[in-house]
Amino acid sequence: MIEHDVVIVGGGLAGSRAAVEIARTDPRLSVAVIAKTHPIRSHSVAAQGGMAATLKNVDDQDTWEAHAFDTVKGSDYLADQDAVEILTREAPDVVIDLEHMGVLFSRLSDGRIAQRAFGGHSHKRTCYAADKTGHAILHELVNNLRRYGVHIYDEWYVMRLILEEGQAKGLVMFRIRDGKLAVVRAKAVMFATGGYGRVYNTTSNDYASTGDGLAMTAVAGLPLEDMEFVQFHPTGLYPVGVLISEAVRGEGAYLVNSEGKRFMEDYAPSRMELAPRDITSRAIAREIRAGRGIHTDGSAGGPLVHLDVRHLGKEKIMSRIPFCWEEAHRLVGVDAVNQPIPVRPTVHYSMGGIPTNTEGQVRSSAEGLVEAFFAAGETACVSVHGANRLGSNSLLECVVYGRRTGATIARYVQNRKLPEVDEKKYITQAEQQIQALIAQPGEYRIDQIRQRFQDCMTEYCGVFRTDALMREGLSQLQTIRQQAQRVYLDDKGKLWNTELIEALELQSLLIVGEMILTSALNRQESRGAHSREDFVDRNDTDFLKHTQAYFSSAGIDIRYRPVTITMFQPQERKY
Ligand SMILES: Cc1cc2nc3c(=O)[nH]c(=O)nc-3n(C[C@H](O)[C@H](O)[C@H](O)COP(=O)(O)OP(=O)(O)OC[C@H]3O[C@@H](n4cnc5c(N)ncnc54)[C@H](O)[C@@H]3O)c2cc1C
Repeated sequence: MIEHDVVIVGGGLAGSRAAVEIARTDPRLSVAVIAKTHPIRSHSVAAQGGMAATLKNVDDQDTWEAHAFDTVKGSDYLADQDAVEILTREAPDVVIDLEHMGVLFSRLSDGRIAQRAFGGHSHKRTCYAADKTGHAILHELVNNLRRYGVHIYDEWYVMRLILEEGQAKGLVMFRIRDGKLAVVRAKAVMFATGGYGRVYNTTSNDYASTGDGLAMTAVAGLPLEDMEFVQFHPTGLYPVGVLISEAVRGEGAYLVNSEGKRFMEDYAPSRMELAPRDITSRAIAREIRAGRGIHTDGSAGGPLVHLDVRHLGKEKIMSRIPFCWEEAHRLVGVDAVNQPIPVRPTVHYSMGGIPTNTEGQVRSSAEGLVEAFFAAGETACVSVHGANRLGSNSLLECVVYGRRTGATIARYVQNRKLPEVDEKKYITQAEQQIQALIAQPGEYRIDQIRQRFQDCMTEYCGVFRTDALMREGLSQLQTIRQQAQRVYLDDKGKLWNTELIEALELQSLLIVGEMILTSALNRQESRGAHSREDFVDRNDTDFLKHTQAYFSSAGIDIRYRPVTITMFQPQERKY
């Protein structure tokens, strides 16, 4: 059996930052990071626009309180304000720390870190490395993992969380290269497994964003929080769905409909294109519905709108947002210096996740905590984003709460013993699970079922929702789940069996999808990213609370947890 003091699943920003913190705090601890990709290929590497912090390099009027208020207002008052306070107060410090590790941020002419405007933020506070911020940060963090002697298990797929008597004891995983199964036991287990964009058919997320950590947690009997809040990013490149960063609007781009109008003036006149994402995505969806969308040939009535940067000029485009220019050019043949970019909303981010307290320890219920189990980053819900995340607050969350959770774990494991784990039992069960998948006589291909599922989620739990739509979605999901038990695998071997991984990932997707739909059906109000046409208003009397959904094969049980309000009383949210 493999043994470490701490195992962290996920080598993105949250997992790597936690590992560095543990190793820095107590170099004697044996720390492992496990990832189904190479850590450098975690979705964090694709982050573009930047990371918010009130460094005040560009705007000396900025304060952490203003950042906190923007975040809480952006969250439609669902964020826990104690967690937001920590996020915004610690932000400048974690940015400076990253810079000391060697991260190459873009600079002002006087040499200080540059900061740009971002949606929903009242000041210019987003630090960036051109439009490749995630790349710059993750490379330094992974270098630091090596420097501090963290054990890296790359291309190992974690398939089960070992949870017994309310305590996390380890994991079951297999090596993708040769199918070798292994049980790991540890004094503390941390999940930093990222988001679930692949639940939908159009997403900015990478292929690995399948919500495995969420599904493993749910299957272990623990709750998932606020899963109904799915962020649609306003500007996915049409038709591929990859991200055109909000930094493009931060630098001054216009959103334009078929009439050539900057339509955001009808939806958020004071913020225009820099309104928060939920509002901007709905505005685009409404313009398209009303026939003011555009076709790829430029005619009216189509499925997209235009993101226009031509007025910024070639030099600014090439120095501030070169990657976005390149994406549009390479993927759809648009030269953004001379042509508008075709965009429409794309699934981007998961506001909900594994509930934790502000130390990163996982909650077992509204009051209880799970022993030895921690989570941070996109897979966690601490909750700093509530019903809608502001751009550039996620990288920040990964680093602030990655660091914090790492510090907690370094303290937590002191004087704790390795737990007893029945290795043989878990290996046998894993072998049986894999064998069942491989031997399954089936009639469907994995991609067929995945496509049906993604289309179902997109159609029945998208930007606009109703009771009837979601009930229909849930009923179709039941059929798809049954069909998923009849998929067949061509590859029965052990070497690089990526088909088997896709089969396991499909199981994660189906669980996460059902959690999203059921949580959404039960929230009878509109708040942030959750927009119901049958309950159009926010309802603080009945729904100013976090959803906690418990999965079981018999059905999903919905309970609630109160929101922590310390600084800002809920108000009407207008921009
Ligand atoms: C295109 C894009 C641009 C973005 N731009 C910004 C931005 O500019 N600013 C901002 O604040 N946010 C941005 N975001 C959001 C932000 O990048 C992510 O929320 C954040 O990076 C998530 O980091 P993470 O560490 O939680 O997870 P990830 O970086 O997604 O890492 C997840 C890790 O878990 C591992 N893993 C998952 N499942 C398993 C399993 N079963 N077994 C083993 N390993 C597993 C993966 O291999 C990976 O290493 C962007 C997101 C996207 C998609």
